[in-house]
Amino acid sequence: MIRLLFATGNKGKLREAAEILGPEYVLSTPAEFGVTEEIPETGETLKENSIQKAQYLFERTGMSCFADDTGLEVDCLGGAPGVYTARYAGEHCSFDDNMAKLLREMAALGPDVPRTARFRSVVTLMLPCGDYYCFEGCVEGKIATQRSGCQGFGYDPVFIPDGFGGKTFAEISEEEKNAVSHRGKALRAMAAFLAQ
Ligand code: IMP
Repeated sequence: MIRLLFATGNKGKLREAAEILGPEYVLSTPAEFGVTEEIPETGETLKENSIQKAQYLFERTGMSCFADDTGLEVDCLGGAPGVYTARYAGEHCSFDDNMAKLLREMAALGPDVPRTARFRSVVTLMLPCGDYYCFEGCVEGKIATQRSGCQGFGYDPVFIPDGFGGKTFAEISEEEKNAVSHRGKALRAMAAFLAQ
């Protein structure tokens, strides 16, 4: 049994991580250790934010923990929203506001704009000795012209991963998503490292 604290308050992420890591892992949330404030993300890269979140949680709890930071990189927007993916439409905006802004910005570029994009995640694992290790995962796909599906969370209704016949992440099962997703790849790399 491996006990790890996961630096997230997002129930969708927590469910996915538990499913990806399997029954050998027991995941706790920051709230269970009295950390209820929003964990700061002030870095300029996904990696910096991922390390910052894991260190913040470790300093407050002394527990082995991991954090992930994810960005959606859209080619026709020069890689935006990237590190600003969570607050693309402004601080404290909803998933819906973010998707609406993304679809609006892409529509403004015209109907023939390439829609290629990818989700990239960096997971940081903090060990009790204070050493940390980073793992990256990426999934290629396209941005849909409108939302489809109701599974998952975040930008799932507008992200069409390669290899699923044009379905969005919100239209495929959690199992299918986890098998190819950015977070699935990064977390399986972390689990492989811990298994060594
Ligand atoms: P963060 O890593 O929690 O800061 O996430 C950045 C942003 O990416 C948030 O708006 C999340 O909702 C979004 N996001 C992260 N992972 C996924 C995913 O698997 N599907 C859709 N959106 C995601």
